Amino acid sequence: MLISVNKLNKFYYVYKRKRSDCLFTNIKISAYSKLVSTCGFVLSVGEVLYLAFNFESYVTWADVNSHLRVGLNYLYVRFYTSLVTIIFLINPLASVLCISWCLYNKRIMKIDLNGVLSTVAQRPCSHFDERPDEADISLLVIHNISLPAGQFGTPFVDDLFMGSIDCNAHPSFSDLKNLRVSAHCFIKRTGEIIQYVPLDKRAWHAGQSEFEDAPACNNFSIGIELEGTDIAPYSLEQYKTLTIISKSIMQRYPKITPSRIVGHCDIAPGRKTDPGSSFNWPLFFNMLEQLS
Ligand SMILES: [Zn+2]
Repeated sequence: MLISVNKLNKFYYVYKRKRSDCLFTNIKISAYSKLVSTCGFVLSVGEVLYLAFNFESYVTWADVNSHLRVGLNYLYVRFYTSLVTIIFLINPLASVLCISWCLYNKRIMKIDLNGVLSTVAQRPCSHFDERPDEADISLLVIHNISLPAGQFGTPFVDDLFMGSIDCNAHPSFSDLKNLRVSAHCFIKRTGEIIQYVPLDKRAWHAGQSEFEDAPACNNFSIGIELEGTDIAPYSLEQYKTLTIISKSIMQRYPKITPSRIVGHCDIAPGRKTDPGSSFNWPLFFNMLEQLS
């Protein structure tokens, strides 16, 4: 039992130590896994104390033979041994299963039947409508946005998508009057993600656009906005979140392949430049490949 707990703890601390090198550092061991490990440790301490206090009567080699042959003691020893065996087997197994489950759920986001990312903060907005053909979701478009341009962490992007932006709040907002736009998801500099439109619905992110001779990309694409500008490097947390959500979307909508993940600049050249030269496409595709 002690060996198993030590091994488990060793695994846990090795895991913790490696977290700083880990690609997905935002993965956390669940409270339940910690509880299981802690219970195992407490039980093993109890086991040692029990054996220490009962050593003379139950565990001395001289007595083992007789205990094994004496009814109640034999039954008790056997019961206790069985209990230890069960804990020995269940504790590490449960912990490993819990940790695996947590890792899996952090790597792949669940998308429900309506295209809602079930583990993501929801801010349902009204800037969307029905797609002409829901079965034709086949393109992922990456954008950037920041309001005012170059300022991060403000509430104005959220206000814009929710249709409640105060156009007097900043001189540059005068262009946004009566503008009704949205994206399916917005990834903040911290990597936090907010969903505004279910993936099965048509968000209004691409505008006049074309991809491989197919016009009006909003009809068949999913739009993800990164909080950023064309020149400010995106944060690693943003790449991590984008990688995970992209992988999840590709699993749900298999027509979206790496060659069908593009920037807004690719489907509206001359009109749009985002996500800009600051977006590291090789890094993103490398991370996406690592996740596969
Ligand atoms: Zn854009």
